[in-house]
Amino acid sequence: MALKLADYRTDVHNNWCPGCGDFGILSSIQMALSELQVNPSNVAVVSGIGCSAKTPHYINAYGVHTLHGRAIAFAEGIKLANPAIEVVAVSGDGDALGIGGNHTLHAGRRNIDMTFVVFDNFVYGLTKGQASPTLGLGVKTKGLAKPNIQQDINPVMLALTAGYTYVARGYAFDVKHLKDLIRKGIQHKGAAFIDVLQPCPTYNDLYTKEWYAGEDREDPDTHKPMPRVYKLEETAYDPLVKTGEPDEVTAKVGQAAAKSMEWGDRIPTGVFYQNPFVPSFEERVEKTRVSVYRELPPAKLRISEDDGTSAAPMEPLLDQFKAV
Ligand code: SF4
Repeated sequence: MALKLADYRTDVHNNWCPGCGDFGILSSIQMALSELQVNPSNVAVVSGIGCSAKTPHYINAYGVHTLHGRAIAFAEGIKLANPAIEVVAVSGDGDALGIGGNHTLHAGRRNIDMTFVVFDNFVYGLTKGQASPTLGLGVKTKGLAKPNIQQDINPVMLALTAGYTYVARGYAFDVKHLKDLIRKGIQHKGAAFIDVLQPCPTYNDLYTKEWYAGEDREDPDTHKPMPRVYKLEETAYDPLVKTGEPDEVTAKVGQAAAKSMEWGDRIPTGVFYQNPFVPSFEERVEKTRVSVYRELPPAKLRISEDDGTSAAPMEPLLDQFKAV
């Protein structure tokens, strides 16, 4: 029987602020899972700490609400223990790029086949609006006593240089487009990174829904607002690596990096880069370490005998470390 969107929802009370962009991201993840008809019992949604970290409570799937900055670390563990599970990690911009920055960086170069969604609102919403790592130098939101004294991290650029093989940016209030980006990220065989512009109406009075919609400026011809957010797929931009040749990869990464610098009057969303030619970490393990890894991953191994003693054959393992 086909799964319905309602099958991915829970009845847990949602306490995000009214108007928060988190609602759009939550719906997009649920819609993507529904569209792919992934059984909830085959999905794990993992979060760290922050407003975004409540997401697993609202999705009918396995959910793990972990420690600050550790969503990726737990998600990697789940995926490596059982590669058959569809793993979606969710993190705020502070959680992903501040506290958990190192995990975010190294997940890229491993190219583990999972999807990482970053709720990017430029502030630490849960703790009353301090500057997050994505807030620009000299910018002052209403939660700050003085303008930000630190330079910002560009999440798309960071994901590109870290080695993620699917790098995209969505907008929380364009749910259909974001759903498509998340669905493609889940389908991609490798590490997918999706930066999501997410208005926080409670603590970020600059990057609001109205600002993204360009309501503060008027098109001189139509006299309508001039939206800042636009879609890359509506331009001639092509993110896909088609041959995997080094020159092509270099050109596509360079193109995506240049595009990631666009901000202000025009803000690109969509897929910046996709390279299907890089082997996933799971494939590397299978090819170079454990040939039966996918049939017998750690989660399916018997860990103890009936009498409680370890079922792991230690002798062959210890033999590998013997000095000859
Ligand atoms: Fe959303 Fe901001 Fe409220 Fe957190 S503080 S729930 S990010 S509006």
